[in-house]
Amino acid sequence: MKKISYLLIGTNNKGKLKEIQALLPKNIKTYSTSYFNLKSPRENGKTFKENSIIKSKYFSKKTNLPCLADDSGLEIDFLNKSPGIYSARWAGRDLDFNKAIKKVYKELSKKDKDWRSKKIKARFVCALSISFLDRQIACAKGKVDGIISAKPKGKNGFGYDPIFIPLGKKLTFGEISPDKKYKIDHRFNAFKKIKKFL
Ligand code: IMP
Repeated sequence: MKKISYLLIGTNNKGKLKEIQALLPKNIKTYSTSYFNLKSPRENGKTFKENSIIKSKYFSKKTNLPCLADDSGLEIDFLNKSPGIYSARWAGRDLDFNKAIKKVYKELSKKDKDWRSKKIKARFVCALSISFLDRQIACAKGKVDGIISAKPKGKNGFGYDPIFIPLGKKLTFGEISPDKKYKIDHRFNAFKKIKKFL
């Protein structure tokens, strides 16, 4: 199979863009969606996988470049896996993640006022896909298990990082340095499975 030498990273999320760039082999020339001034498509899939493929096909068709796209989010077991594929939408139009985190805490308190004394199991999930025009080349899922922190901690990362403590660690993703986080997270675990296609 011919190896890919250039690739569009199909995300408008700066946090994801940085992590994906760090994961990719340095011999691949990468382009960002902002370079082409592209807006994101409507994500009307029912799963991370469907939404990831919607994005990689859409951005590839807009640019004629092979595209690697990510769809990811936080699943909280106690909230029946919410926010899940709606993780970005919980942050509202202006993508304010303080708002999204407040909503997580509000929903947990609605279910059980005493949730902070319990282990609230959660995981980050990521579906990475590679498409070229309308053809799906590969798709892989990855996850990282953890628990929800009783309060937001740390300024690193993005999104829900300040409230997620990965299994076996004491610090939130917001407190762990970015160069350590990207080697243990859901995106890395999906990337391990998909990198043979690059
Ligand atoms: P989407 O995949 O663009 O629909 O957005 C997924 C949302 O999930 C992001 O906007 C983030 O808030 C959240 N998310 C995904 N991966 C991570 C992560 O590694 N850390 C924190 N939040 C994440």
